[in-house]
Amino acid sequence: MILAGCDGDRTWRLQDYVARGGYAALRRIVAEKIPQDTIIGELKTSVLRGRGGAGFPTGLKWSFMPRSFPGDKYLACNSDEGEPGTFKDRDILRYNPHSVIEGMAIAAYAMGAARGYNYIHGEIFEVYQRFEEALAEARAAGLIGQNILGSDFSFELFAHHGYGAYICGEETALLESIEGKKGQPRFKPPFPASYGLYGKPTTINNTETFASVPFIMNMGGEAFLNLGKPNNGGMKLFSVSGHVNRPGNYEIPLGTPFSELLEMAGGMRGGRKLKAVIPGGSSAPVVPGSVMMDCTMDYDSISKAGSMLGSGAVIVMDETTCMVKALERLSYFYFEESCGQCTPCREGTGWLYRVVHRIENGLGRPDDLDLLNSVTANIMGRTICALGDAASMPVQSFVKHFGAEFEYHIENKKCLVPPEVQRAGS
Ligand code: SF4
Repeated sequence: MILAGCDGDRTWRLQDYVARGGYAALRRIVAEKIPQDTIIGELKTSVLRGRGGAGFPTGLKWSFMPRSFPGDKYLACNSDEGEPGTFKDRDILRYNPHSVIEGMAIAAYAMGAARGYNYIHGEIFEVYQRFEEALAEARAAGLIGQNILGSDFSFELFAHHGYGAYICGEETALLESIEGKKGQPRFKPPFPASYGLYGKPTTINNTETFASVPFIMNMGGEAFLNLGKPNNGGMKLFSVSGHVNRPGNYEIPLGTPFSELLEMAGGMRGGRKLKAVIPGGSSAPVVPGSVMMDCTMDYDSISKAGSMLGSGAVIVMDETTCMVKALERLSYFYFEESCGQCTPCREGTGWLYRVVHRIENGLGRPDDLDLLNSVTANIMGRTICALGDAASMPVQSFVKHFGAEFEYHIENKKCLVPPEVQRAGS
């Protein structure tokens, strides 16, 4: 859907997007003056769930935007993709940026927003440049700006290049950053729908979420829903990385068996055995390979397996993986990226990293697993934003499912997976 037809040259150009049916939905909405409620109703029917990680129903989120607010209302697109394992949004912006622009323009029409910003992760400059080029094309063609397509609907859209901090992907930190402040999450409530950018009502959606909107408007909410399965409408991009033969982005219907996705990604590298999968970006709990093989790729099935579909970043690990080392890498990431505002996260992520680091380096203590569980319990639910939970859930799940490897490390001061086996898989 979003990446269909995007394997040719210059697929990001306006001309190419229009040839693929692009901007037909926006043209129809503006020409026929389709009521805002009809658009939001279509989205609700589609059961499009937010593609950034939380999976919140998009139509419902749009309906929270106050209709009669007298001043400016804003839209923000969260393209601050920075979690380990995620790399789908940058490909949407690279190969199909106009789908995001059209999706945002339709959203602005449906919610009466006058301005929008696409916040693009700071470490992907070429993607930011490409989006700027696409914006210039859309502006010149009268698809954004004042009196879009000759109508009385106006919507200004800008790209905002971030600075590379993971925490700016948290929606209120993102708003702070656009406002030119330090990118730190705000206390909630109030939520952005009532007090967002510059204190005005704001709706924030992920890149893939906005890019899905034109397709829903063209095919209808019911048809989109039927592409997936009940409560899990449509197609979804999955970024598959790790020990597979063909890592990359795969756009498949929600509800596709994990085993099929693994096959699309070329199967396990070197024909090795699947050990574990992180199915939804590094903050999602790890799932043993045997459990994962019985899952389908949708919000409900992955949740039943004790994890989260999240952003759809699927990290595949084979039998050569040392789970202690894998967790050490993840824990360092969260320790490094904590914004430091609240004590349980600032101090707790440091504790988690240091304890896992000493286990990995043969200095683990007999009560370290209890200590890890205790520290995570003292972080979870006690922080301003979800980063504290995101740092804790991998630790809890790694210890739960692969505790024997951690205990072996502590008792024998070495890894259960011999170094030569690890090297073979690296
Ligand atoms: Fe900052 Fe962590 Fe608190 Fe979030 S949970 S506000 S990242 S210190």
